[in-house]
Amino acid sequence: MALQASNSQQPAADWDEAQCKGALAHLEKLQEQLDELRLTIPRIIQPLRTAHTTPAAFYADFRQAAVGANKNISKFKVVWQSQETQSIFEHAKESQKTDPDLSACVRVPKYGWVDTLENEKEAAGAIEKEDQVMMLKNEELDITGIVDAFKHEHPKFKVNLEADNQLIHIVFRLPTLLMRFRVVRRKEANGNYKLDAECVGKMPLFPAITRCLASRPRPNDLKYLLDMITAYTNTRRASCVKCTKLVDSSGMTPAARRSKRVESPEGASDIVWEALHERCL
Ligand SMILES: [Zn+2]
Repeated sequence: MALQASNSQQPAADWDEAQCKGALAHLEKLQEQLDELRLTIPRIIQPLRTAHTTPAAFYADFRQAAVGANKNISKFKVVWQSQETQSIFEHAKESQKTDPDLSACVRVPKYGWVDTLENEKEAAGAIEKEDQVMMLKNEELDITGIVDAFKHEHPKFKVNLEADNQLIHIVFRLPTLLMRFRVVRRKEANGNYKLDAECVGKMPLFPAITRCLASRPRPNDLKYLLDMITAYTNTRRASCVKCTKLVDSSGMTPAARRSKRVESPEGASDIVWEALHERCL
């Protein structure tokens, strides 16, 4: 992100709307990194709670956890101390000196700026993009109906259907995390439609979730995909059903969700969603 203020280290006297949005998106990403650091202690102590076959394996596991945690803290420090972050703080300080009344900030959303910027970028290049990905209608699938039912089932989710019903944005807030998903329907050269899902964000967990979504069963089932996305509401709380741990050896919480059919004693059948680490799939 190229903020004008970051070039000079001097805060600009007046920022235009684009600069303010850019700064809010930058701070949102910084907050994501900070949220990720909350797992530092569980990651470090995880090897101490795990049985190891040899002292060497225990040492290697512990070392990896400690080094990984240290790397994450270093990365956060780099961004915190960067010219861009410091310029934003400096600008905020100057702005507060000029006008100490901060009451208007309660009307400004705290999250969603990264999405807003991405959407604006997308809208700017929408026509070109539409050509590239060949987003076309498929009359057979009632996308609006499926998405409306999904919205109704999950009133706390923010769900937007865009680009002629071929692009679905889903956002929901967890206690320490904002989850953002993007589902795109694309027509492939053979005429079939493909559903691509992405968990949007820079934190290592998010691309891992995207990879696990890509390897899901029933890849053409939109309703199934939306239910799978809903299963991420227990992100950071759900342990892996295979290894039973919260974090794996790389310090990652389960990035995959897979469905399992369970029978009740009365004979009724239901679907439950299980969490798995990417490497435990
Ligand atoms: Zn696992």
